Amino acid sequence: MGKRNFQVFKRIVVKVGTSSVAHATGKPNLFKIESLVRQLADLYNMGKEIILVTSGAIGTGAGKLGLPGRPRTIPEKQAAAAVGQGVLMHIYEKLFAEYGVTVGQVLLTREDFSDRKRFLNARNSLHAMLQFGVIPVINENDTVAVDEIKLGDNDNLSALVATLIDAELLVLLSDIDGLFTADPRKEKSAQLIRDVTEMTPEIEALSGGAGSKLGTGGMATKIQAARIAMHSGTVTVITNMEEKNIIRRVIEGEAVGTVFWPCANKMENKKRWIAFSSSICGKIFVDEGAARALAKQGKSLLPSGITRVEGSFDIGNTVVIAGPDGTEIARGIVSYSSEDIERIKGAQTRDIARILGHKDFDEVIHRNNLALEL
Ligand code: GLU
Repeated sequence: MGKRNFQVFKRIVVKVGTSSVAHATGKPNLFKIESLVRQLADLYNMGKEIILVTSGAIGTGAGKLGLPGRPRTIPEKQAAAAVGQGVLMHIYEKLFAEYGVTVGQVLLTREDFSDRKRFLNARNSLHAMLQFGVIPVINENDTVAVDEIKLGDNDNLSALVATLIDAELLVLLSDIDGLFTADPRKEKSAQLIRDVTEMTPEIEALSGGAGSKLGTGGMATKIQAARIAMHSGTVTVITNMEEKNIIRRVIEGEAVGTVFWPCANKMENKKRWIAFSSSICGKIFVDEGAARALAKQGKSLLPSGITRVEGSFDIGNTVVIAGPDGTEIARGIVSYSSEDIERIKGAQTRDIARILGHKDFDEVIHRNNLALEL
């Protein structure tokens, strides 16, 4: 755990939830958005690169359309998002412009992360925006993404953005002070946890509880986001948007909110993509020996250790690797299709060519294409 020396950070992702940009009526909360924009514009003036991930499209769309709460059906949500996204961008554009800052809208979907080419494309365009001195204003493209394929919440989205562009700091602004030892709305004795250095099962267990009426997140998605960031070398701070000048105070290292400190070993970029962004197409079960060789000795996955294959996948797809008891131990990109692995599982590498009639690789998953320590 380091000191809160956050002033040195240059690239900062800030995420605001629906409750921070909209009133319960679904109308924009101009007071809060104004304060957010002023703080971000000031950080920008200090030479920081700011990326804003904003929720509130569906919420403010519902407000504009006069709906009583968050819409239920997919088409209604999509329609509300189309309206609300425009409302939000109009306000951001206008307020940032007052401080001389240019913003650019970026609407992303799950495939922009799971498809490696689109992932790299998104990274290039964000880098170009930052180089132009633009503040990217990001949301999920709710109007075209149906629920089944959605990322669904902007906490995870903001962490994926942070890992995409190697941000140094991720600030998750919420309507709660941070992570507590119990639900502070129910238990008086609940204590704010100041620092988290490791994502233990105990920490994950603290994440129960749902979000507000208009948003979708809660502590669970914030913890998931922090986990991604911890592996990406990004410091995460969960803190309360209600607090005055809160972003500034976070950067100045004041003891506010909960800080999640990055793991000692930052995962390299491609492995982070395998672990957190790519879609899982199947599962490979391995025996005890192979599980140990992968986890402890940094070895590649050979056919001999494979006991079972689940799902139908192609060369280049990402799969989960599970130990004998079914628990996930790693994720990786396969060099053989599920059909071929079915035929060579349990066999020695020297027998691959005889069994398949061809041998392109010795290993089923090369260690460079394996993400461990999830
Ligand atoms: N993308 C959603 C919206 O703009 C918000 C998702 C979330 O609440 O995290 O309404």
